[in-house]
This record gives sequence, structure tokens and C-alpha cells, in this order.
Amino acid sequence: MGDILIKNGFIATMDSERRIYPRGSVYISEGRIESVGKTVDVPRSPEFIINAEHKVVMPGFVNTHAHLQQYFRGVYELIGDFYGVNLPLEGYRRPEDMQYLGLASCAELVYGGSTTAVVIYTYPDGFAKAAEETGNRVVLGADVEEVDLEKLRSGVYEYIREKGEAAVRRAVNLYKDWHGKADGKITTIIAPKAADLVTVGTYLKCKELAEEFNLKMSTHLSQSWREVTQVKKLYGKTPTEHLKGLGVLNNRLMGAHCTYVTERELSLIREAGVSILHCRAVTNPLLRWLDQGIKVGFGTDDYHHDMLQLLREILWGAAARAKSEGGAEEMLASSRRTARPNFYELLELATRGGAEVLGLGEEIGSLEPGKKADVITVDLMNPFITPTRDPLTSIVLYGTPSDIDNVIVDGRILKLGGRLTSLDLEQALLKAQERVDEIIGRFFDDYPEQRKAWEEKVFHRK
Ligand SMILES: [Zn+2]
Repeated sequence: MGDILIKNGFIATMDSERRIYPRGSVYISEGRIESVGKTVDVPRSPEFIINAEHKVVMPGFVNTHAHLQQYFRGVYELIGDFYGVNLPLEGYRRPEDMQYLGLASCAELVYGGSTTAVVIYTYPDGFAKAAEETGNRVVLGADVEEVDLEKLRSGVYEYIREKGEAAVRRAVNLYKDWHGKADGKITTIIAPKAADLVTVGTYLKCKELAEEFNLKMSTHLSQSWREVTQVKKLYGKTPTEHLKGLGVLNNRLMGAHCTYVTERELSLIREAGVSILHCRAVTNPLLRWLDQGIKVGFGTDDYHHDMLQLLREILWGAAARAKSEGGAEEMLASSRRTARPNFYELLELATRGGAEVLGLGEEIGSLEPGKKADVITVDLMNPFITPTRDPLTSIVLYGTPSDIDNVIVDGRILKLGGRLTSLDLEQALLKAQERVDEIIGRFFDDYPEQRKAWEEKVFHRK
């Protein structure tokens, strides 16, 4: 793609100086940002010009934790139970599903302005092919877990060695086949699922691979009470203490959720330089993490990947927490409840903050000369947003993915004037729908009681 000039926009660079140009330009050449400023002294004529008048121009979102579980929509919300429906359903996915679901997932990420997304999935290979085709920047992890999902439904943990070995093989193959591919847009991480779902031997194998390949590790950490209980039962320790004992508690590790982390565990996390990935459990103590200097990234986790909606959930979660916690927690928050987390801080964590957590802060996450050109524009010309005296506050509070009208990844336009350019959206969605009907159909055939429960909800019989 040739040079692109974005001009006349409200430029929020999200750089460390927090530079904003109320009317400025960004010049993109050979996939990188060449210049940013009030007016850009254009060195030569660009092939493409985007007039960003009445638009915010900012770095794309860095979504630090996502799974491709869109096939749960309309099912899990109605009959959801993490161990009874979510995990067993994972066993119904097949590697070949991704050729059908992958394009729709790439479309969703671009549509919502996630120019980089960490995607952890059982069969990431098919998704990598889709991402290569559509031009998304993705950080892929092969989900490593080794429990009998069927038995886990009734709370029984049975570890299957071959399943763990196959998952580790997939992780190795993912690295070998895809790390650094698509002009560097596809990279990989090692992703042991959680301390209750992975045995010590497999966890240590994951650690070894992360060190050998020099990759980040992502794990679900104290996500559920069942995880905490099982880890205590097996090892007499909390999940964080257990991981410390395995030697994986270091700045390579990113812990998703951290919902049941105690104060003592938080100290261990801080001292070790572990990052926290803040997802939809919105009342988690975000401010406390930030105040302790822990690096935090935001992730949409599952179902749908709308980063603007996630920011609002995080905001409301922080407010609800301050109110409900009382005591010292409320004292800490009350004097600045309206001020923190402030709107700008949320956008910053969703862009540069996420990039730093992933170790990609030198390349993406802000609009700065030399960085890769991952840029979005947000159209302010809708009656929910304009009139406003602060476009950034307004997009955090009222913006939607359809306001994100242009998305550029690595200097290539993937969404232009609201339309996706690197895939046929309708075809991608229709194919995904067909596949989802098939996956859920097989699950319901094996679990007729779940079909019945779902039908009762859908047709409002109960
Ligand atoms: Zn997750």
C-alpha cells in the first residue's frame, strides 16, 4: 500500500507525553508512521488522503486477552455454566472450524478497532491463516490444558497426559509455523490455561518453551473459586504461590483476571513484575493494581470484542467497587471517585498500556514517528457524540464500533469509511453462522437436557 496522509483530525497520540493535536495530521509511509503533528510537512504526495475533520485519530486498541468464543452467543448467556456448558462445548470445536469462524473473528476485531489482539484458542492454526489473509495483527497462543472436560462438569478433575502432550505440540508448532509471519504481524505466546487445568509437569514444559523461544506467557490466574480450591487441594497453596513455586512468576507472565487474588498474592505479583490482564470481571481492584505500579492491559475475553464497551464496563465496575467495598477501599476511592480511572487513562491502558504489557511498546500502542502504523479514526458526526467539548471523553462514554470508520494496520487500510476492505463481511458471517449451527447442534445432540433447557429459554416457556 502506498503512503497515507490523515489530515485535519483531533490527534490523540497516546504517547508518554500525552500529546494531543486538536487539528493535526499523521503521515504514513511503508507501514510506519513518518510524522505526527499540528500540520505535517508532507515530503511527497501520498497515494491516499483521509480527511479526518470531525474525527478522533488515535492508535488502534490493543486487546490483550481474547478467545474466539462467538459461537456461544445466544446459547451460553441463556444456559451458561462455566464448567457445565462452557468447557464441555470447547470439546466440540474442531481444527477445521477455524476456516469458517476465523474470517468472522478477524472481521469483528477490525470492526471494533482492535488493531492488535491476543487470541488464545485450542486450534489457532486456522485462525492464523485467516489473520494472514485479512491483515490483522495478532498475538496467538495455543490453549494448553489437560483435563477431562466431561468429568469436570461434575467437579471431578482428571488429568489426561496425552491431551496435555498434544496441546504442547500444538504450541510448539504454532511458534514454528507462525511466529514472525505475515511481515511480523503474527507473533505467538505460550498459554497454559490455568493452574487447576494444567499439571506441574506440563506447566514446567510451558515455562521451558517460553524461555527457549523467548516468548511471553499468558495464564488465567485466580479466575474462579473452583480453580483456587482445586489448587489449594492439590498443592496446599494459592494459584499465585503455586506458580511462584514453579518459577513462572516473573515479568514474562501475564495473569488474566486475578479475581480472587489476596493482598499477599498481589505483593508477589508486583515483586515479580507480572502483568495483569483486566477483563470483564469489572469490579476487580483496578485502581489498587495501578497504584501499586503493576502493568495492566485490557482484554475482551470472550463473546464479543468491543473495546469501547469494555472501557465502560471497567469504568462502572470501578465505581461500583468503591461503593460496595467500603472501609479503606472506599476511603481510597471516594475523594477522587469521579476522577479515577479517568477517561484518558482508560484509553491509554487500552492502547499503549496493552502494547507495553505485551512487550510491543517500542513498535505499537501510540502515534509516534517510527512506530508501526496501527491507526484508527473515530467519527464524531453522530448525534450521540456531537456536540461535545471533549471528543475523547465522549468516545469513551458514548462511542460504538460503528463510529470507528477507518482502521489501518501496518499501513494497510482494513476498514474504510465503515466498510471492511480485506474480506467479504456478509460471506464471512454467513459461513460462520452455518458452522456455529453445526457445532451447537452436535453439542445438543449429545446433551438433550441442555437443548431442552435452551429451548425453554429461547421460546420463553419458562
Ligand atoms: Zn480467558
